[in-house]
Amino acid sequence: MSNDSSPLDAERIKRLLKTESEEINKHTRHFNAERYRAIEETGSETYELYRTEAREIKEDAIERLPDLIEQVSRAVRDNGGSVYVADDADDANDYVTDVVADEHADTIVKSKSMTTEEIDLNDALEACGVDVWETDLGEFVVQVADEAPSHIVGPSLHRSREDITELFEREFDTDEALDSAENLTAFAREYLGERIDEADIGITGANFVIAESGSIVLVTNEGNARKCASIPDTHVAVAGVEKIIPGISELRPFAELLSRASTGQDITQYLSILTPPVDTPPIDFEARGAINGGNIEASRDFHLVLIDNGRRQMRRDDDLRETLYCIRCGACANSCSNFQSVGGHAFGGETYTGGIATGWEAGVEGLDTAGEFNDLCTGCSRCVNACPVKIDIPWINTVVKDRINRGNDPGFEDLLVEGLSPDGEGGGVPLRKRLFGNFEAMAKLGSATAPVSNAVVTSFPVRWAMELVLGIDTRRNLPSFERETLRKWASKRRLQAQTEEPLRRVALYPDVYTNYVDVERGKAAVRVLESLGCSVEVPEVLGSGRAPLSQGMISTATEKAEQVTDALLPYVEEGYDVVVIEPSDVAMFRREYQKLLPPDQHKPLADGSYEVMEYVYGLLENGAKAETLTSGYGSEVAYHSHCQQRTLGLATYTETVLDLLDYDVMTSDVECCGMAGSFGYKTEYYDLSVDVGERLAEQFRSDATDRPVVASGISCVDQLDTLLADKPRHPVELLDPAQKN
Ligand code: SF4
Repeated sequence: MSNDSSPLDAERIKRLLKTESEEINKHTRHFNAERYRAIEETGSETYELYRTEAREIKEDAIERLPDLIEQVSRAVRDNGGSVYVADDADDANDYVTDVVADEHADTIVKSKSMTTEEIDLNDALEACGVDVWETDLGEFVVQVADEAPSHIVGPSLHRSREDITELFEREFDTDEALDSAENLTAFAREYLGERIDEADIGITGANFVIAESGSIVLVTNEGNARKCASIPDTHVAVAGVEKIIPGISELRPFAELLSRASTGQDITQYLSILTPPVDTPPIDFEARGAINGGNIEASRDFHLVLIDNGRRQMRRDDDLRETLYCIRCGACANSCSNFQSVGGHAFGGETYTGGIATGWEAGVEGLDTAGEFNDLCTGCSRCVNACPVKIDIPWINTVVKDRINRGNDPGFEDLLVEGLSPDGEGGGVPLRKRLFGNFEAMAKLGSATAPVSNAVVTSFPVRWAMELVLGIDTRRNLPSFERETLRKWASKRRLQAQTEEPLRRVALYPDVYTNYVDVERGKAAVRVLESLGCSVEVPEVLGSGRAPLSQGMISTATEKAEQVTDALLPYVEEGYDVVVIEPSDVAMFRREYQKLLPPDQHKPLADGSYEVMEYVYGLLENGAKAETLTSGYGSEVAYHSHCQQRTLGLATYTETVLDLLDYDVMTSDVECCGMAGSFGYKTEYYDLSVDVGERLAEQFRSDATDRPVVASGISCVDQLDTLLADKPRHPVELLDPAQKN
């Protein structure tokens, strides 16, 4: 029985973890470190201004796309070139092969272009008997190796230098030493230089196309694109229609952002703005001493092929439209922990790789291709701040998951849950997704029947059946439900609570895990807040919808969001502050509810809710006395913040509060624990989840020996519980006044 729609199997992931993970990890983390450095040196405010400007330009350009296509077409024709707007891949390939036939071309050189990968142009050209040479070194490597690119920017990122040496020594008959990066580059430069000299046609992509002048902009580090465009006397530029920007003055923010976001370079090696065809005669390398033998009459041809291939449909799609703002920097891939482990040969489709690949593949290839890897996006949101044009990549992934769920035919599994399932989904949602999406219902039942429920679900036959039927890995510990929920405990406690005028009134949000599983962190939060002078209520309210949203069950998540705001907004209106322990739920209130709810419902809750340590920091800053809390007296502690907390800029509050209370804090610089809610439970992803988590655990083992570990997110706690000797606690538990007794 199928438990899910993911065709990525455990064996393929294990193989990539063994063969490609080390290089991908090394390079993507290097790019990240350089990106952070470049942004810091630019100044984060300036960088943000560029991001905002770039976003606005893209929004405007996509809005005006039909007009800009007309404008650029006129400009190119006025310059003496030709323009063809191709409906799809076949249409584009037919046009280019016609150009090749007209030119009687035998040899073609290409610079790096994802768009030509998308339309399989090389296959179409080779079918016409033409020799095609990729001249970007990374593309050349994957061409020689006959494999697909593994990264949008670095196609051969998965290969080591030694690997490439071995490949070239095997494939080329050369006496040259190929034992260093410099030697390999020199060999490729000379070899490909000869191909460029003899080529009949040069094909490039375009990072941007300028509508007002018909110019194309090429951003490269190797200079090969400029050679491909200028040495052969016919130049064909192939670009998606979304690459058009209105004018040269709009190029500035992209020039500032692209190389910084991509490789962390302040400026790329070559930024070429070409307005072809130019008058300069083609270079004749046979005739020394004079350009083209002095034949200044020689003419150049230029063809701009603009590709639609689903893009105009994406433009009309409210959710996929944002994908068209992408400038293909690869930062979303670099910042993704799962990508860092398996790379684009797992986390990618026919052409595109990394987080945004879902949007591209869904738009240009269809949902089936996107569905092959879409589950590798766990919605951690680390890519959101990395994206130079502020694309909400996790939301695109969620929407595509939802569409895939809805595209499945109702099946046997639906009969099992028909009438029993508390969600708002139609038929076709795979059983495992439904189970994880409805974790709250299970938690409620598990708590009501604990400890029997805990004994049953951890028994061998039940675990074995869960792995077989649902794909829930037996190596992963399941949550253990508490009989007394946080709400029950708090309602008993409220009867004895103080009556004097509180400093602030708090509605502590009982997220599903805190209410039913890790009740201790909830109790600690109540005691900490009360000791700082707050009155604390734990309202009767449902889960935030994070669990169904993570499975692409948007209707169910929206229903939850509506019910949560119905329950919490009266508190906000009465002047309560909503305090949230689980960072992924704070992120729901502040970010995802924007997508699910109208602004008048979303905004008051977003403005009136706080992450618990953020709130404690605010209380201390505003005069609350810390004496009642448990101080560290210099004791050492290791801390891991949650992905969503970092995206929202909240991690620093925990560090500051612990510091104020005299704890010696070491914070992990590994960004992700790899667990990501239900992800780490799934059989096919268990090894990947642990691989990501090991980077974090290893840092704590080597740099934080003997320090107790605290972690803000429940997923992080679960993962570290699996990988470290002792189970971490939430940071608020360190402050708990009850520890003094
Ligand atoms: S989505 Fe954003 S981060 Fe990802 S490749 Fe596109 S521009 Fe770069």
